[in-house]
Amino acid sequence: MRTRAAVLVADARPRPYADSRPLEVVELELAPPGPGELLVRIDAAGVCHSDLSVVDGNRPRPTPMVLGHEAAGEVVEAGVGVHGIGTGDRVVMVFVPRCGSCPACAAGSPALCPRAAAANTAGELLRGGRRFGPHHGGTVHHHLGVSAFAEYAVVDRGSVVLVPDDLPPASAALFGCALLTGAGAVLNTAGVRPGESVAVLGLGGVGLSAVLGAAVAGANPLVAVDPVAAKRELALELGATETVDPTDGTVEAVRDLVAGGVEYAFEAVGSARVLADAWAVTARGGTTVSMGLPHPTEELRIPAAQLVGEARTLVGSYLGGSVPERDLPRLVELWRAGRLPVERLHTASLPLEQVNTAMDRLADGAAVRQVLLPHG
Ligand SMILES: [Zn+2]
Ligand SMILES: [Zn+2]
Repeated sequence: MRTRAAVLVADARPRPYADSRPLEVVELELAPPGPGELLVRIDAAGVCHSDLSVVDGNRPRPTPMVLGHEAAGEVVEAGVGVHGIGTGDRVVMVFVPRCGSCPACAAGSPALCPRAAAANTAGELLRGGRRFGPHHGGTVHHHLGVSAFAEYAVVDRGSVVLVPDDLPPASAALFGCALLTGAGAVLNTAGVRPGESVAVLGLGGVGLSAVLGAAVAGANPLVAVDPVAAKRELALELGATETVDPTDGTVEAVRDLVAGGVEYAFEAVGSARVLADAWAVTARGGTTVSMGLPHPTEELRIPAAQLVGEARTLVGSYLGGSVPERDLPRLVELWRAGRLPVERLHTASLPLEQVNTAMDRLADGAAVRQVLLPHG
């Protein structure tokens, strides 16, 4: 079949992207789903900072590539050997496909599946190869097994989780990346308990999802840090008890608010400098959680003696330490109960053609989550 798709043709083009147009919306050939795969109609695709990091060259990936890794849709066709899911089922995409049979998957850490990591790095689907036809003669790669900036995508069965019909697509999409990553880091990686103190540095989709997760966990105080006033306001509405403008100095301000520092600090910017701030606002005995993805050349320097002398923990959280098939239904039930108002993170809905403008707005900090609607 044919599908319209937003193809990244080259990374690190100059801003504004609305002029340099690193993403081209074109028609591509899409092969039918192979064994163990699904053809999914994409109803909504979130524009996440990890997409921008590929566009701006901070996270180099092979091009040309159909971007988009946070999405919701409906199964159109199931390949042979797919059980328990079929035509008409609503799904949320997960950007780390699970093979289900490796030691990591068997141990309950599917985010660390080595087969998934190899496929994602190569721009292939889990079972190998690519399903898009060529663009200008170049092999078109998949983005994290999803490639949701398209009307239709072929994905592995292990890249989706079933969700109920009443979850609106624009909200459902956000569960697959922002919520699993942000709320998951709080609930799984850190295991925050009621009354524990938390700071979240960076209030994009993942950071605000961490605020939501910390509010569900009963964190108090819950300090939200971001230079954009509107995002700090939103964080207060989502459960933050205090906010800090980092241009006034994050470390002093947080330590003024919470004597001795916070028990848990979460970095959601993707910057080693901000991660150093997160480390500096963490209390003795506390835990610093890294959720963002800095450029591969960035290094973190911390006083080594503090690790032992203050019994500190520094931990990375990939996909929020989530088991998507276990955690997504729980998060959806919290949404249904009104405790995870993920729709509040939704800034705008846009047609596929505005993908370059959406990247500009995200880079400007002018949006939390813009959602592309490939079918209008
Ligand atoms: Zn993402
Ligand atoms: Zn695996």
